[in-house]
Amino acid sequence: MVQKLAATAERVYVDGEKALEARFQEAVEALRARGIRMTPQRHAILAYMLKTRSHPTADEIYKALSPGFPSMSVATVYNNLKLFKEVGLVRELTFGDQASRFDGQLHDHYHVVCVVCGRIEDVEYPPDGRLPVALLRQEVLRQTGFRPLEHRFEVYGICSDCQKAGRSPERPAPAADASADEKPRRPAAIVPAAEETGA
Ligand code: ZN
Ligand code: MN
Repeated sequence: MVQKLAATAERVYVDGEKALEARFQEAVEALRARGIRMTPQRHAILAYMLKTRSHPTADEIYKALSPGFPSMSVATVYNNLKLFKEVGLVRELTFGDQASRFDGQLHDHYHVVCVVCGRIEDVEYPPDGRLPVALLRQEVLRQTGFRPLEHRFEVYGICSDCQKAGRSPERPAPAADASADEKPRRPAAIVPAAEETGA
């Protein structure tokens, strides 16, 4: 799974590791400007978040990193994620009452969520352009008087692995753990017509 995600990251990063390193340095600088010092654990969590495309929970990050950091706790991971969020280095994705997921990719992009296994992947749309977000904002203001701050757009479906395995929301995989029984809860997704039809 990690290997597969790394491959996805390489596909998206046209500038490869160089871009990643530059983003990491910028992030370290942003933290330093706020008087936040870099510790080995913080370094590892930050690097993990900038690299991953898997939208992990704090627990998943903890499980991935704790073998290298025996003194790390889930609370350490969570507190650092909150800190990164405050400084604007990661985004928090909430899905109903499920554990928050975190996204280190800050460019405008959208998500596709597997309703069977809960996997979340990035969708770049339009592939080489920008969504008419300005138009959407105008419409929101015109119709409701709201001043838009941010928006989310999620597509729900069945991922390619689940399709290959014949899994569906009605016939999920034999429960490996308790969480497999929980159907991913669908948040009230914002589905702006201007975005669905594209530019
Ligand atoms: Zn799936
Ligand atoms: Mn994302």
